Amino acid sequence: MSETKAVAAAQVAVRLDTSKCRAYGICVGIMPDVFDLPKGSPVAVLLKDVADGEDLTDLEEAVFNCPASAISLARQEDHE
Ligand code: SF4
Repeated sequence: MSETKAVAAAQVAVRLDTSKCRAYGICVGIMPDVFDLPKGSPVAVLLKDVADGEDLTDLEEAVFNCPASAISLARQEDHE
């Protein structure tokens, strides 16, 4: 099992607007690596604010499915 990972040319910055989030938790169900809804927290939290470009499809799904439109993405052109 040799999984070769291409180096992501671009990363995606994830932003969570906590003033909009209503803690529905849908994003957590889609991307538990990125979003979390700690017990007792009124809003979701980001576990990481930059994700690999290969996660873009799942991230877009989270954005699309958030009823509060609290999630936004920004492409980061990361090159060294
Ligand atoms: S889906 Fe949207 S409203 Fe629900 S927890 Fe995630 S960011 Fe908050």
